Amino acid sequence: MSYDNNNIFAKIIRGEIPCKKIYEDDYVLSFYDINPQKKIHALVIPKGKYVDLDDFCEKASPGEMVGLLKGINIVATKLGISVNNGKGYRALSNISEHGGQEVPHLHFHLFGGEKVGKMVE
Ligand code: AMP
Repeated sequence: MSYDNNNIFAKIIRGEIPCKKIYEDDYVLSFYDINPQKKIHALVIPKGKYVDLDDFCEKASPGEMVGLLKGINIVATKLGISVNNGKGYRALSNISEHGGQEVPHLHFHLFGGEKVGKMVE
């Protein structure tokens, strides 16, 4: 699937749609999910145009890869749910049709602030 420049997260990155921002640097943007599934539900997205994790792994630079993983850790620490300053969390990325991905821009969900529960239904 080719990247759709009009997906909702692309619009958020361009500032065309507002978000409740948590963190931003050269590589990532993080904001609260509009429909939280847990007490804390954040999203971390790369700024580059990648449809999903497979696309990212094939095309992203090493710097972008490190930036995304570091970004997840920075956001978790900022939210007080990392193992350094909290009780942990779940990082999850849905990929394509069987993964249940709705927005075609790579994103990691960070769930925390309470026990997250069963991994899959
Ligand atoms: P996924 O099913 O993994 O593609 O998840 C997409 C997520 O994006 C869902 O949890 C939505 O609630 C969330 N979402 C959709 N639109 C927005 C938005 N404008 N701001 C924040 N989160 C959003």
